Amino acid sequence: MSDLPVSRRHLLALGGVASSGLISSLLSGAEAHAADAPKVPRRTLGKTGQKVPILLLGGGSGFDDKFDPRIPQALRHGVDYIDAARKYAGGTCEANARKTLTRINQLDKVWITSKSGHYDAAGFAADVDESLKQLGRKHIDLYYLHGIEDLAVLDNKELFQTVEKLKAAGKIKYFGFSCHDGTVAELLTKAAGISLIDSIMFRYNFRQYGDKALNDAIDAAAKANIGLIAMKTQGSEAGIEDAWKKFEKTGKWTKHQAVLKAVWADTRITAAVSHMDSLEKLQQNIAAAVDNQKLGAADWQSIERYARATRSLACDGCGQRCASALGRPVNVATTLRCVMYHDVYKDADKAQRVFAELPAEQRNLSGLDFDAASRACPHGVNIAQHMERARAILA
Ligand code: SF4
Repeated sequence: MSDLPVSRRHLLALGGVASSGLISSLLSGAEAHAADAPKVPRRTLGKTGQKVPILLLGGGSGFDDKFDPRIPQALRHGVDYIDAARKYAGGTCEANARKTLTRINQLDKVWITSKSGHYDAAGFAADVDESLKQLGRKHIDLYYLHGIEDLAVLDNKELFQTVEKLKAAGKIKYFGFSCHDGTVAELLTKAAGISLIDSIMFRYNFRQYGDKALNDAIDAAAKANIGLIAMKTQGSEAGIEDAWKKFEKTGKWTKHQAVLKAVWADTRITAAVSHMDSLEKLQQNIAAAVDNQKLGAADWQSIERYARATRSLACDGCGQRCASALGRPVNVATTLRCVMYHDVYKDADKAQRVFAELPAEQRNLSGLDFDAASRACPHGVNIAQHMERARAILA
């Protein structure tokens, strides 16, 4: 983690944005919520009735352990929502967010979401208590079950009773879950019939707009007034860089901004959480959010071309056809996501940790015909190539 001088260098890299006066202001907290800074628009997060910014500060890569300038810079523009998790950044995300928020006197003034990877009542409640301790707060705004895949998790009555008690005790205000792989559409559909679920964070990006099952599920969840948050909006995948370079910029937006604006164009979605690991990325995303100019026809055509060009690189996590071709329960979607964490996010720790959490039989990648799996994938994902990489960096 960087120390304060490094943080100053990050700020200075922003050129005009980061004058030395601003640096001092950020450190003192005086700039937080600055009235003169353009503000990111807000939307209502479903049945919570709470307005949140359409751009959320993702904590997946953690925060600086002394002072993280991205937090006050986000606050200046109304991005007062931090998406944390018990496990992010080796368990340091919550405590490090607390350090910066305390330093700028904003600890109780931001929306904090966190997540538990325990799907049993006792484990979930213990994680809520640990999050409260790490964050140094009396309540957490929204608490998710982290990355669920199994629909049966949503049948756990004991867990739901515990959630109701945690809400009644004021430890959490709202509840929901996040999901990446395989069963996203089924989970959204099932959640639509569960009144206790206030919000869902799910993988949603420009490659999925033609997916009828997913769209029907989003419709059902939105109709049930569940607050929907999109993640993985950049659709990053390992090996994507070559196609990325060929993607033509049209109009005024960079490709990163354009795909974010494409998600915001879907009014069923309240907000997009973004993995912004530098002030430069934060500033670019804020610029896209505060500018209310919509994507034009040329922008949409460009996004469609980009989606087609990268289709065979991207696993949607359907989990079905390639798994049956393999004949063994390898979790292709999660394994490929781990390769992406390693090669795109440059987060080897997270990649190896998420992979290590898979059951042992799903981590055995030897002796399998991945070419057959590739042929079975409706998108022609080169599973063999990704799995060779997985064996080298994850196993
Ligand atoms: S590689 Fe293809 S078939 Fe396998 S989970 Fe991903 S999208 Fe589905």
